[in-house]
Amino acid sequence: MKIIAAKKILKANDQLAEANRATFNAARLLAVNMVGSPGSGKTTLLEALVNALQGRMRLAVIEGDIAGSIDAERMEALGVPVVQINTEGACHLDATMIAAAAQGLELAAADCLVIENVGNLVCTAGFDLGEHVRLVLLSVTEGDDKLVKYPAIFRGSHALVITKCDLLPHVNFNMERAVADMRRLAPDAPVFQVCAPRQEGVAELADWLVQRRP
Ligand code: MG
Ligand code: ZN
Repeated sequence: MKIIAAKKILKANDQLAEANRATFNAARLLAVNMVGSPGSGKTTLLEALVNALQGRMRLAVIEGDIAGSIDAERMEALGVPVVQINTEGACHLDATMIAAAAQGLELAAADCLVIENVGNLVCTAGFDLGEHVRLVLLSVTEGDDKLVKYPAIFRGSHALVITKCDLLPHVNFNMERAVADMRRLAPDAPVFQVCAPRQEGVAELADWLVQRRP
């Protein structure tokens, strides 16, 4: 019987992630790993960011999904260079997948590469993709208790984006509690409150991203 320690696989991933980061640095590219539950509004936020970053940063996108290309088609419709990864069952992206996908993009022609991860708050926390910034999304419809229940993903993120804030009057979401929990888990991470379809709060997030370009 052959036993492979998960620790070793993660170490290999970390080395590849460092190589990805070096590639992104050489291209003077800000790499963003966007994580959040299925339906938290990652692609809709991305659409709003395309608009908000127009003329400021040229975007390229890697879409990670278990199957299909619905999100990549939404990016293509906006004229954004995009590569779709189908993980065929795997519930997260890893650095190897990103290295392969990046070869399908002209990195020198972009200022910001957004990687939309598979919708998942659990194991996406364990895989460095070589990003500079990890953005975690939480929609108000998911509930304010998710930070306490899935601390690793929030602790390792550089900013929290609370989405669907237009629905706050209709749901039981305690904003103070969510913000306080994020302060505790990641004291330096800003919290953005957005309604992406109305472009509310998105300019602030765009400004923050522009400042982070290497
Ligand atoms: Mg999506
Ligand atoms: Zn996974």
